[in-house]
Amino acid sequence: MRLQEKGEINMHYDLTIIGSGPGGIFAAYEASRLNPNLKIAVFESGNELSKRTCPIDGLRIKSCINCKSCSIMNGFGGAGAFSDGKYNITNDFGGTLYEYIGRSKAIELMKYVDRINLEHGAQNVKLYSTSGSKFKKICLQNDLHLLDASVRHLGTDINYIVLNNIYNELKNKIDFYFNTTVEDVTFQNNTYTLKGNFDNTTSDKCIISVGRSGSSWMEKVCKNLNIQTKSNRVDLGVRVELPSEVFSHLTDDLYESKIVYRTKKYGDDVRTFCMNPKGSVVNENTNGIITVNGHSYEDPNLQTDNTNFALLVSKHFTSPFKDSNGYGESIAKLSNMLGGGVIVQRFGDLIRGQRSTYSRIENGFVSPTLSATPGDLSLVLPKRILDGIIEMIYALDKIAPGTANDDTLLYGIEVKFYNMEVELTENLETSLPGLFIIGDGSGVTHSLSHASASGVYVAKYLYERNA
Ligand SMILES: Cc1cc2nc3c(=O)[nH]c(=O)nc-3n(C[C@H](O)[C@H](O)[C@H](O)COP(=O)(O)OP(=O)(O)OC[C@H]3O[C@@H](n4cnc5c(N)ncnc54)[C@H](O)[C@@H]3O)c2cc1C
Repeated sequence: MRLQEKGEINMHYDLTIIGSGPGGIFAAYEASRLNPNLKIAVFESGNELSKRTCPIDGLRIKSCINCKSCSIMNGFGGAGAFSDGKYNITNDFGGTLYEYIGRSKAIELMKYVDRINLEHGAQNVKLYSTSGSKFKKICLQNDLHLLDASVRHLGTDINYIVLNNIYNELKNKIDFYFNTTVEDVTFQNNTYTLKGNFDNTTSDKCIISVGRSGSSWMEKVCKNLNIQTKSNRVDLGVRVELPSEVFSHLTDDLYESKIVYRTKKYGDDVRTFCMNPKGSVVNENTNGIITVNGHSYEDPNLQTDNTNFALLVSKHFTSPFKDSNGYGESIAKLSNMLGGGVIVQRFGDLIRGQRSTYSRIENGFVSPTLSATPGDLSLVLPKRILDGIIEMIYALDKIAPGTANDDTLLYGIEVKFYNMEVELTENLETSLPGLFIIGDGSGVTHSLSHASASGVYVAKYLYERNA
């Protein structure tokens, strides 16, 4: 930022990092910790943390106005800045980093990231664990599978404090260029050149960590640099919202439970995802497509009476149709077309084949935390996916009675898009020497802890390689 203010961006760095989400931040943090003399620059399309504000105020601006750079998804902290801040320490979900660096290394680095978070403001946040949990047996007895994980839930509020503290520590050691999109990366004479609306910047090494929002850019860069990619999966489903008491026996003990159910009808796996005790359902805008998500706060004053979580089914296409994300986008667009955004439906209405209406929602015993359009999700979701979700709701009702209540709210649709998988070595390096692709942009990770750990891994690897 210092240089940009002086209009002097025409620099050579030891290391450039594109994107300041968790992957980029932890790469920068670790690289500068290991070698304080390293000249590092971070380029970020969005704003610095304190300037990240979404214009939706519920009064003058009620819905997304598609800002040039979305303050929710872009800027210091990346897509994770206003996230629920759930750092899951596990190889069972959140990415496949372990396939590259090994299971024990992946866990070691996720624990290291956890320690950095504790040192930067999360010291009072409890770590929950499924290890030895009685719910494993209860789940198995009901045809459900509880996945292993430890989770530190920072909450949106503490997550912000941690990020702010990390930024304050880094800002005088590293050159941050905010509101500066890198448009292209080229490689010549063992040097990387970053191009955009600024004078060219060169570096010996480059780490790309552009997350989900940088997926089409990433695809273009891979094509230009001749780096191979392959299609990934898309996860589709709904967000369930119900009174927090229904799941409190699970959430009090585990906070988040990732539960998998294999449907009897099709043999598809349906899983719970991103559980938010006493949380709120929120809109998510991915490149203009409005989908649903959820979060919660650590601060009891900001909590609600409801718990929400997603129920998702994965779809992976290979040949002749390969565009899994395109499929997910089309279904999300359909819900946007019918509902003008997110649709909400009572479970009882879905089962009876009728759309929900404002009065049916108002008369229900669950007050929605998101203002969404009452409608009919069966007109949006493919039958196979919807049947799986309904089966799963009845299965969950056995371990958390009340889940299949008529008034349980289903919001649609929730989509988890994944970037295409980039061909990388076991050290997350591309076929070009010194060019690394980490975090969600690589298709390898899709969580805060995996993305952060991938950044730490590459910084450590580069340090050891040069030592
Ligand atoms: C609402 C929400 C809630 C979530 N909750 C959780 C949770 O509780 N737990 C969890 O594990 N995960 C959660 N996630 C997912 C998590 O946020 C991501 O997995 C994580 O942020 C990925 O980190 P990343 O660094 O790979 O990418 P990102 O966080 O997406 O960061 C990428 C950054 O790169 C920048 N960028 C993109 N292209 C360019 C370019 N060309 N030039 C310069 N900069 C560029 C972007 O502006 C962005 O800031 C949530 C996501 C959302 C959207």
